Amino acid sequence: MSVLIDGKALAAQLRQEIREKSENFRRERGKDIGLAVILVGEDPASQVYVRNKIKACEEVGVKSFSYHLPAETTEEQLVSLVDELVAADNVHGILVQLPLPAHLNERRVLAHIPPAKDVDGFCAENVGNLAMNRQTIVACTPFGVMKMLEKYGIDPKGKNAVVLGRSNIVGKPMAMLLLNADATVTVCHSKTKNLKEICAAADILVVAIGRAKFVTADMVKEGAVVIDVGMDRDENGKLCGDVDFENVRDKASFITPVPGGVGPMTITMLLYNTVLAATRS
Ligand code: NAP
Repeated sequence: MSVLIDGKALAAQLRQEIREKSENFRRERGKDIGLAVILVGEDPASQVYVRNKIKACEEVGVKSFSYHLPAETTEEQLVSLVDELVAADNVHGILVQLPLPAHLNERRVLAHIPPAKDVDGFCAENVGNLAMNRQTIVACTPFGVMKMLEKYGIDPKGKNAVVLGRSNIVGKPMAMLLLNADATVTVCHSKTKNLKEICAAADILVVAIGRAKFVTADMVKEGAVVIDVGMDRDENGKLCGDVDFENVRDKASFITPVPGGVGPMTITMLLYNTVLAATRS
């Protein structure tokens, strides 16, 4: 029987620590830690994400500055807001909710956020520092996964770690973090051959592909640690992950559920990164 990795409980514990740090910051520096969140347009999923981020800020005593701009905002207008926030010394982190409407160039917009305020850990300098195993700001979801492994006493050192998915926000930084933690890392993607065999050799399997219940029990080694980043819908429209949880859970030593696994850690690590950015400022 596997141990369920409880992301909700760990997130709650970390948020308590973050709250204490933000209170210390206020006491020592006489001001709040500030996070600016910019949403452009009316994408319903993005609106939910932004609302949750603002709510989470309130919970830990981080001041949020929320900007909801109309879908027809020009790149010039958006960049000018970002530049203003870059210059504001009560704003320690800037987050532009993605995806942006198609007429806006994400790369050009994000390039205006300096590494020190890039609390998503997406910019080239922060990613480069991660690749070189230097102090940096790490993308929230993979950072949350590392915290979960640490909390449950799972040391990646010397283990075969397989990361399924190579996106810039999850798969690639996840692979770099595991490599930095001395795992032997294989990264798989849609063109990978022998996917099943590679996954079945993993001591630690992190799955982030966005395909409901894709990883079945025959792809998992007995006793493997299985981390499911996916947030998908099953055939009945119910939230599920990339892993066939019911059938995989008996084979795994540790496994994350969906919901209640990686999800709650992501926003928590955003708050964590914001506090980090503020204390380094
Ligand atoms: P993404 O940008 O769409 O990337 C998906 C990756 O999976 C790509 O590298 C793709 O390969 C690979 N892939 C897709 N189908 C595959 C297949 N059949 N076999 C092997 N590899 C395959 O997705 P993402 O942003 O990384 O997100 C992945 C999942 O995590 C989604 O369900 C998303 O909702 C979820 N997510 C959850 C959180 C959270 O907080 N829990 C945060 C972020 C994302 P190619 O590169 O070859 O196309």
